[in-house]
Amino acid sequence: MAAEQHPDLDEILITEAQMQERLAELAKEIDRDYEGKDLLLVGVLKGAVMVMADLARKLTIPVTMDWMAVSSYGSGTKSSGVVRILKDLDTDVAGRHVLIVEDIIDSGLTLSWLARNLQSRGAASVAIASALRKKEAAKVDVDVRYLGFDIPNHFVVGYGLDYAEQYRTLPYVGILAKRVYER
Ligand code: 5GP
Ligand code: MG
Ligand code: MG
Repeated sequence: MAAEQHPDLDEILITEAQMQERLAELAKEIDRDYEGKDLLLVGVLKGAVMVMADLARKLTIPVTMDWMAVSSYGSGTKSSGVVRILKDLDTDVAGRHVLIVEDIIDSGLTLSWLARNLQSRGAASVAIASALRKKEAAKVDVDVRYLGFDIPNHFVVGYGLDYAEQYRTLPYVGILAKRVYER
């Protein structure tokens, strides 16, 4: 049964079923691409918790998981590309194949920094999976190997994404009504 639309949303962009179906397709690709390899999934807290849990459980190859928390310095709501690590990996990535798992790519600044950072630690390879991408907002050309959906340039919540730490647990992705953040 489809989840009912939260009253603070204007519109549901990606339903629960659409997300799960797309993640199953991506999992098949990842299974094939990393077969026989030692794969470490790196989730970026907190937004990627849902996509990590769902994507990882759809994989059939053995993987390990680790987490990072980062914050982008910047004025107000804009990310600047200057990144501070709030929680680092517990894992040494040297020689490992790393797949960064993200919720959404907006400017791409955070992720391009993160990919370079993990590569500089001697990872055998670094690739990116993201549930969502705002195509119009891309400042940096980030190479997303496994992409769920390109979405229009709205502020979205749900499926891990928050506004003031709310809405992360909605199983779908929707556009937050402006009245919610302009009040
Ligand atoms: P950027 O790609 O601009 O460096 O930053 C991406 C991060 O900004 C995401 O991981 C997410 O935390 C946040 N973000 C970007 N767009 C949205 C959005 O539409 N909704 C929410 N809730 N967070 C967003
Ligand atoms: Mg994120
Ligand atoms: Mg947030």
